[in-house]
Amino acid sequence: MTKLTLFGSPDAPELYPLRDFLQRSVVQYDWVDATADPTALPAGLRQAYAAGQRVPAIAFPDGQLLLNPTVQEVAQHLGWINKPSRQEYDLSIYGAGPAGLSAAVYAASEGLHTVLIEREAIGGQAGTSSLIENYMGFPEGIAGAELAERARQQARRFGVDILLLREGVKATFYNHRIHVDLASGDQLVARANICATGVEYAKLSLPNETQFFNKGLYYGAGASEAMFCRGKDVFVVGGGNSAGQAASYFAGFARKVYMVIRKGNLAATLSDYLVKRVTTTPNVEILYHATVQELAGHQVLEGIKLANSQDGTTTWHEAGKLFICIGGQPNTDWARETAIIRDPKGYLITGPDLVGRPSFPACWPLVRPPYHLETSVPGSFAAGDVRLNSVKRVASAVGEGAMAVTLVHKYLAEQDKMAG
Ligand SMILES: Cc1cc2nc3c(=O)[nH]c(=O)nc-3n(C[C@H](O)[C@H](O)[C@H](O)COP(=O)(O)OP(=O)(O)OC[C@H]3O[C@@H](n4cnc5c(N)ncnc54)[C@H](O)[C@@H]3O)c2cc1C
Repeated sequence: MTKLTLFGSPDAPELYPLRDFLQRSVVQYDWVDATADPTALPAGLRQAYAAGQRVPAIAFPDGQLLLNPTVQEVAQHLGWINKPSRQEYDLSIYGAGPAGLSAAVYAASEGLHTVLIEREAIGGQAGTSSLIENYMGFPEGIAGAELAERARQQARRFGVDILLLREGVKATFYNHRIHVDLASGDQLVARANICATGVEYAKLSLPNETQFFNKGLYYGAGASEAMFCRGKDVFVVGGGNSAGQAASYFAGFARKVYMVIRKGNLAATLSDYLVKRVTTTPNVEILYHATVQELAGHQVLEGIKLANSQDGTTTWHEAGKLFICIGGQPNTDWARETAIIRDPKGYLITGPDLVGRPSFPACWPLVRPPYHLETSVPGSFAAGDVRLNSVKRVASAVGEGAMAVTLVHKYLAEQDKMAG
C-alpha cells in the first residue's frame, strides 16, 4: 500500500487516536502540520481551515480525502471492516494481543474454524511497544507493531476471520456454546472460546484528568507520539518495563524525559537491561518517591505538580507530555454476569487456581477438574495478561495462546465423544 497523508493541528485531541491507530497497524503515513501553511492544503481541507475548523484529515492513495474521520471510518476505507463469514465457529478468540494472535495462528493452522475479535488495533499492549528486545529470535529487537503485523498476516494466511474494531460486551453460555454480544449489535456463536483481552493502564484518579486526555496526557506511551515530543520536557509515570521502554525511546526526541516512580529504586519492577539503559541515558532523570498530584493547563496540559513522599515537598514542572504507564486493569467486564470466576481485581481465574475457591463447586458441572487455562465455565479458556497469576510478558502470552488451543482440542474432542 502506498502512503497515506495525515493532516492536522499537532495538539488537536482528535488526532491522537488516528495516528495511534495508524502507527499500531503499521500503516505508513506522512504527517503534515496543517497549521504551518494552510494555503498548501488540499482544497476540501483548506476550506475547513479557512472557516476556522482545525480538523484532522487523511488523504488516501486513491485520492479520497476524509475530513475529521473516526478510526472506524479509516479502517472501513482501508477495507479492514469485515463481517463474520460463518454462523458458528469452532473457536472464538477475544483480543488480538500476543496471546490472541498466537492462539489464532495455532488454532487455524490445526484446522479449527476460528474468529478473532479485536476492539482496537491488532497487537494489544505489545503493539504500542517501540522495541521489544527480549522476545526470542530477534537479537536486535523488533517493534511491537511489526511483530503483531507479522502474526496478523500469518493468521490470515491460515484462514482466521479477523473482526477489527468490534468489542465483546456480554457472554452467555448455553447448548455447549458461547454466545457473545458485540458492541456493534452482532452476535457471535462458537463451540469454545479463549479470552485474551489483556489489561489496560490504570488512571491517576486526579480531578481534571479527563480534561487533558489526548491533550498532552496519554495512557500508555504510543510510539506515534515520539515525534511530537521534540524539544519538550516529557514525563512518564510508572516504573515497569513499559515505562522504562517509553522513557528510553522518547529520550531520542525530547529535551528531557522524567520517569516518575513511587518507589525508591527501579530494580524490583524494571528489567535489568532497561535499568542500565534509563540510568545511563543523559537526558533521562528518575524522580524517585514521586507521585503526580495536580494537572494544570488551558487548552492542553501545561504543567504537573509532583509530590515527594520522602521529604514531603511538592514542585510544579512544565510538562509538554505526560504518559501514564501504571498498573493494569483486566478487561473482563464482558464476564460480569457469567459463571466465570474472577478475582477481586477482575482477573480470570483458571485451572488449579480455581480448585478450593468457595464458589467453584457450585458452578463447575463436570467430574474432571478444569484444564490448566480453563475458566470455571467448561470450554471457556483464558490466556495472557488477563489471567490471574500470568507472567505479563510477550513470550508467555504467546505460549499461553498456543497452550490454550491444545486444551480447546481436548475439550472439543470430549464434547464430540459425549454427542455420539
Ligand atoms: C509499552 C509496552 C511495552 C512492553 N514491552 C515488553 C517487552 O519488551 N517484552 C515483554 O515481554 N513484554 C512487554 N510488554 C508486556 C506485553 O506487551 C504484554 O504482557 C502482552 O502484550 C500481553 O499480551 P495479551 O495478549 O495477554 O494482552 P494485550 O496485549 O493486553 O492484548 C489484549 C487485547 O484485547 C483487546 N480487548 C480488550 N477487551 C476486548 C473486548 N471486550 N473485545 C475485543 N477485544 C478486546 C485489547 O484492545 C487488546 O488489543 C510491554 C507492554 C507495554 C504496554
